[in-house]
Amino acid sequence: MAPIRNILIVGGGTAGWLAACFLAKMLGAKADGAVQITLVESPEIGIIGVGEGTFPSIRGTLSLIGIDEARFIRECNATFKQGVRFNHWVRPAGAPGPDHYFHPFSQPSQRPGGPELLPYWLMGAAGNVPFAAAATLQKHVADMSHGPKRVTDGDFLGPLNYAYHFDAGRFAALLCTHAQTLGVRRVEATVEDVTLDGEGAIDSVVTREAGVLRGDLYIDCTGFRARLIGEALGSPFRNISDTLFVDRALAMQVPYERPDAPIPSYTISTAHEAGWTWDIGLHERRGIGYVYSSRHTSDERADEVLRGYIGKASEGRTPRLLKLNVGYRETQWVKNCVAIGLSSGFLEPLESSGIGLIEAATYLVGFLFPHDGNLAPVAKTFNAQMKARYERIVDFIKLHYCLTQRRDNAFWIENADPATIPESLRDQLAMWRARPPHRLDFVTDLEMYPPSSWQYVLYGMEFATTLHANRAALPELDAAKREFQTIAQLCHHAVKDLPPHRALVDHYLRRG
Ligand code: FAD
Repeated sequence: MAPIRNILIVGGGTAGWLAACFLAKMLGAKADGAVQITLVESPEIGIIGVGEGTFPSIRGTLSLIGIDEARFIRECNATFKQGVRFNHWVRPAGAPGPDHYFHPFSQPSQRPGGPELLPYWLMGAAGNVPFAAAATLQKHVADMSHGPKRVTDGDFLGPLNYAYHFDAGRFAALLCTHAQTLGVRRVEATVEDVTLDGEGAIDSVVTREAGVLRGDLYIDCTGFRARLIGEALGSPFRNISDTLFVDRALAMQVPYERPDAPIPSYTISTAHEAGWTWDIGLHERRGIGYVYSSRHTSDERADEVLRGYIGKASEGRTPRLLKLNVGYRETQWVKNCVAIGLSSGFLEPLESSGIGLIEAATYLVGFLFPHDGNLAPVAKTFNAQMKARYERIVDFIKLHYCLTQRRDNAFWIENADPATIPESLRDQLAMWRARPPHRLDFVTDLEMYPPSSWQYVLYGMEFATTLHANRAALPELDAAKREFQTIAQLCHHAVKDLPPHRALVDHYLRRG
């Protein structure tokens, strides 16, 4: 067992460069005698360049690796993201009833010593107001096109919780520059072969331009190609298309109608006949894509749906078609190679889990780092945790589909078929019929999404929980009603205090 002295990261997309920055920071790569980190990336192959929505965990990651917010916003054409708006997921466009719901990033309001609001919302304490709109100000602020934090003083105590939308190409470039200042060595070369030693571990990678490269630990960030973990080491891929059906994407970038058009501070996810569109507003353009199931529609029809959604701005533009292998590897760390990013798996980008999973895997490698070269127990722990994380995210994504009332297309009918719902999710839904989700339903360190995210989606999808608890166990109805009223009043203050989203972004750009 030789100590780990050299890490070789193969691939320079979001996964490769984020892992490089994080490990360089954690392992102090610049110091004398520290672990050396080299990243090799192919200039020919390039990056996938589509992951543009994030979860609030990204803020902790940026701060940990030492990239400040203003620089990030300036260099990545970034905007603020306060949540996701889901259009037509419950029922098709035009059907009677609410046409959307919101998944905000802020937690439901909880005063110290005050009641937990959800059970009282279920008792009707907020009237007919949907849970997400009743329990936090965020939906109201986002609906008014205001940002999540202020730039000058005011009464409002924010900020509201938020993540970002950004340009994926620019983000990889920023991380690349930053990683090198942290001591990471960059090599531009294409890996053409991977050689194994007598025990089946990776011995070297053979590149066209830079010859043979070796590391004590290899990190496979080669995207869907999975050049090391898949092609060389044969770690099996678990396809989950029987649960999550979408397997293609058509993506397009379009300008705003006017340069001063309001920028939505949330991702707009609109359900269509065989999938859904994402609509992400950056500072200078929108990124829009239709993710759909090739079993339920054709590429030609998907193109029509995407153009129908975008309208005139799509004229003269050709969308990029991406074929997606949906699922993950149950074993993501094999001998001396660990996969991070798309090489480890891909789940549809409904709740921005891709970058969240990269963050989680990178933290795990950093915190469990096998300095002494004893890889096997670390690999075992890593594999168990990442598999559990993937399973929980699959359940969370499926939650968005399986409660739909849509019956307009086989895609939606099959999505609500219990046979397509993982048993773990079916069990939780069965419990939540009689009581709302509680934090004890979740093992925090294995979850990407907090309990409130599950609650917002569950009740946004109009799930019915019949409270069986004795009303005597819920004695704070009046306090809860007052709290809901206070939140409603604060909404107006918040909108007065918080700047329009575009003005907030412009403020950061001017500061540069
Ligand atoms: P890539 O970006 O593909 O990078 C692979 C790297 O490996 C490149 O540098 C390439 O040059 C290099 N490489 C490959 N082969 C070789 C070789 N032989 N030799 C040397 N180098 C090599 N995630 C989110 O969090 N939010 C979203 O909104 C989101 N939307 C998405 C939408 C779509 C349609 C798709 C497909 C994905 C989306 N994702 C999203 C996922 C996200 O894009 C990825 O998780 C993220 O970009 C990381 O990709 P990566 O670095 O693993 O792979």
